[in-house]
Order: sequence, then structure tokens, then C-alpha cells
Amino acid sequence: MPIKVLIAVTWMQGHRIWLSGPLPPCTHGVRVRVRGFSSSREEVRFLDSSNEKGKTPHPNPPPGVPGGGDRKFSIRWFWAFLLIFCLSAAGCQTHLEKYEFVRPEMGTVFQVVVYAPDAAAAKRGADAVFARADELNALLSDYDPKSEISRLSRLTDSGPMTAPVAVGHDLWRIIERAVEASRRSNGAFDITIGPCVKLWRRSHQMGELPNPERLAEARKSVGWEAIKLFPETHSVQLLKPKMRLDVGGIAKGYTAMEMVRMLRERGLPRAMAGAAGDIAVGDPPPGKSNWRIAVQALEQPDKSAGYVELHNASVSTSGDTERYILIDGTRYSHIIDPRTGLGLTHRIGATVIATDGTTADWMSKPLSVLGPEEGLRLIESTPGAAARVVTIEGKQTKVYESNHWREFQSASVP
Ligand code: ADP
Ligand code: MG
Repeated sequence: MPIKVLIAVTWMQGHRIWLSGPLPPCTHGVRVRVRGFSSSREEVRFLDSSNEKGKTPHPNPPPGVPGGGDRKFSIRWFWAFLLIFCLSAAGCQTHLEKYEFVRPEMGTVFQVVVYAPDAAAAKRGADAVFARADELNALLSDYDPKSEISRLSRLTDSGPMTAPVAVGHDLWRIIERAVEASRRSNGAFDITIGPCVKLWRRSHQMGELPNPERLAEARKSVGWEAIKLFPETHSVQLLKPKMRLDVGGIAKGYTAMEMVRMLRERGLPRAMAGAAGDIAVGDPPPGKSNWRIAVQALEQPDKSAGYVELHNASVSTSGDTERYILIDGTRYSHIIDPRTGLGLTHRIGATVIATDGTTADWMSKPLSVLGPEEGLRLIESTPGAAARVVTIEGKQTKVYESNHWREFQSASVP
């Protein structure tokens, strides 16, 4: 469609046609204006019917539309209107229906919502992106001993790696972004936290904290500075013994964004993908200017704390609402403080909006680890990002918002 409109604009040069946004529901991204009149369906019909009756000009032409006189001029306008009609009709022809798909992926449930011309197209798109999620899981899961990331980690079993090893495109992109995240958050986000996450999982099963020796041993293998990157060859060298990379805090956001990108590539740009905590959205649903996403309430996990409205962006929420361990009256979150190796004990939840899923996912961890003041500084220094943080101390709930949060917050409740 944009190409076609471009042709129309080129052809009509000198006749004051221009492009502008935002878009009416059926123009697929572009509104064409002719001398101040937007090409809504009605106007197009008017133009069409006048063309059908055609030979005589419209008796009451609207202002700015030539109504008669110069025959050459009229003929030119006739073709111009006909062309615009054809373009608009072509755009409006494709009626999009909403389709939803749900599948277990990455230890959780992923959902895809897509607007497609028919069920077959939607299913083809969904199958392709779920296959991609499977592929990413097979590369990035630390639960799977055969995954690329597990094999890389095992190279440190008998000591630091003595030489770099080339990794695939996806693993490289994730590790590179994760290292950048660690640098920006002063280590509050750290994918080398793997050995401590393993202890947390054991604590979850046993209902007891790891003994101090075990914890101390695990912490020796933690430290993002021990990841050495070789950008020219997409190679990685891990410089501590027994390191375990865990990308659970960044990979779902990356996957959700990948799924939306792939759907767009397949001609389905009006799509949403993700798991409960990590959601990516593409172009808005037909006739809407945004997707509306519910934000989970930290205090009441089954309730929403409101809605955000966004398109071509991602939103991630991290908190201890579902995954936590209660030991001797203390609640340990699944988000680990790399400084202690233990789950956070302060109650905090963070929702981050960012232009890409990887950023939204990782940033919700430092916000939780560092707390609202320091965490929100990170958000303010990130273009396109916004966040809302909730803390609970005793019976007191406090809400903190970044400067741009309100721009995404939905004013209305559905
Ligand atoms: P979800 O799994 O629902 O996406 P989160 O986005 O909150 O949940 O990510 C939590 C996961 O992030 C943990 O299970 C763990 O694998 C990882 N993680 C925990 N703490 C950190 C941290 N400080 N830095 C990086 N990753 C972390
Ligand atoms: Mg996440």
C-alpha cells in the first residue's frame, strides 16, 4: 500500500496531495488527503458514483475539488480520483479477523493474537512463530543440557575457558545485550547468576535456604565481567570456573519481540505475542490506535493495576507475586540480588515499557534489585522507556512512575 500511495503522490505532483497520519481503519497505514479532504470511505464512494454517472461533473463539487469548466483539467482529476479510489478500495478490501493461539513454550504459556485475512493465514503465521519459539528454547534453555547455552556453560566445568568459542546468531545477540545490561545496571542484571538460580530452585523444592558453603561456592562463579566478547567473530570466552549462564530474565522478551517481527515479515503486522510477563505488540488492531495490555497488580495477582496502551513496543512485568519461597516467615523472590546470591526479600514489582522486548524484559530486574529511585534513573536514561514500580512495606503500598509512564497509561477501563 505505501508504494502504491507513493505512485499516486508522484503522479499528482503539483495538485496538493500529501500523506499524513494517524490512519483511518482501512487505509493500512496511510491517509491520503486531497485538498484538505481525507479519503474516507464515504468520500471515495462519492467520487466513484460521480465517475459512474461520470460524463457530467458533480453538480455541487466540494470546495477545492474542480467542478467543471476546463475539460482537460477535469479529465485529469477524473483519473486522479479513480486512482485514489482503486488504491483505497484495494486497501479496504482485506477484511481482517482476530485470531488467537495459545501454546506451552519456555516453561510457560505463550499467546499469539493476530489480525489476518483468514484462518489459514493466521494459523500459518502462528505455526511459524511458535516453531521459532521452540527453536529459541532449544538454544537458550538452561534446563536443557543439550542447549547451546548449556554446552557453552559446561566448557567452564574444569576451569575458565582457555579460548573463545563462536556462538550462533541468537545466543550472540542475547549475551551481547545481557552484558550491556549488566554494565548499565552496575551488575544488578547479571546472566552469570545461574549457579545461584539453581540453588534457589533447590530451595524451592526443599523449603530451605542453601547452606552458607554452597552459596559461597556458587557465588565464586558469578560475575558478568568474566564474560569476554569477541564481536568480530561472535565468540564468547567465560573466564571463571563452573559458570552457568541463565538468560531467563531476558530471553522471553527477546522471543516475544522476534515472534511479532516474524509475523510482520509474513504480512501480518497487526499482532501481539508473548507470555504473561513479557509481551510484544506490533501495529495496532484494525480501527484502533493501540493495543491495550493489563498490568498485573503486585498486591493482588489476579487483579489488574490498570492498562497500558501501546503499539510497536514491548511491556514486561517482574515481581514476586507467583514465584517466591517462604522460609521462616521471609519471602524470597525468584529475582536474585547478585550481591548476595539470594532472592530479594523486599516486596517489589516492576512493569517496564520499551521499544524492544529484550530491553523491557531485562530492565524489570534491576528495577526490582536496585529499588525505585536508582532503578527509575536507568529508565529515564533510556529513550522510549517508561516504568511503574510498586513496593509493599508492611501494610503500606507505594507506587512510583517514570516521567513518561502516564503517556502509556490507559485512561479508560474496558
Ligand atoms: P519470567 O520468567 O516470567 O519472564 P522474569 O522476567 O521476572 O520472569 O525473570 C525472572 C528470571 O530472571 C529468573 O527466573 C532468573 O532466571 C532470572 N534472574 C533472576 N534474577 C536475575 C538478575 N538479577 N539478573 C538477571 N537475571 C535474573
Ligand atoms: Mg521476563
